[in-house]
Amino acid sequence: MNPWEAFKEALFPSHVACLACGREAVLEENGLCAECSMGLERFISAPPLKGIDGFTAVYIYNDVSSAMVKRLKYAGAKYIAAPLGKAIELPEHWHIDAVVPVPLHKRRIAERGFNQSELIAKAMCRGYGLKMDTGLLIRTADTPHQTRMSGAARKRSLKNAFRASGACAGLDILLVDDVRTTGTTLCECAAALKKAGCNSVYAAAVCFAVPLNKEGYYE
Ligand SMILES: [Zn+2]
Repeated sequence: MNPWEAFKEALFPSHVACLACGREAVLEENGLCAECSMGLERFISAPPLKGIDGFTAVYIYNDVSSAMVKRLKYAGAKYIAAPLGKAIELPEHWHIDAVVPVPLHKRRIAERGFNQSELIAKAMCRGYGLKMDTGLLIRTADTPHQTRMSGAARKRSLKNAFRASGACAGLDILLVDDVRTTGTTLCECAAALKKAGCNSVYAAAVCFAVPLNKEGYYE
């Protein structure tokens, strides 16, 4: 922790502020106040995705889980990445050689200052003793913000947006993302990895967004 972070931590200790609503409260083990904790919905299962050999998530994307992700992404509350990453539970039968966070374009990283999926993946890796490798997959196209795009538009904007390194040949890879909505991003990442010779591609996200209707997602 650098001196500025230590200073901020002293002024606004992260451990007394609820990770979702930010209010000071007695927190549950998951870092949430009792009210937010009750609003969490656990992920159970999701439809399979092309090129993804297994998928898991922690929460259904709703008011509470989206508040945590949004505070991390848009309010710079980087400390939220650790509890989110630690909450990911991987199926025991997954063999994983390397963990790859879904990459952001360098322009987006410059804008936000960090890749939230990388911070989440780092925390998850610590818990499992897995190795993260951010060099295996890069985002070559700077795609527009996707939350309000339809499925077809997402697919078009992400086509060939990722490039994988030949170093992933023969490896079993776990992709880590903050939120899975349509799954297009994960599918495009998997396609690039498999094109480069990757063996299996699994994916873990903190949240899974259940579609509300044909085109719409909870935001
Ligand atoms: Zn709360």
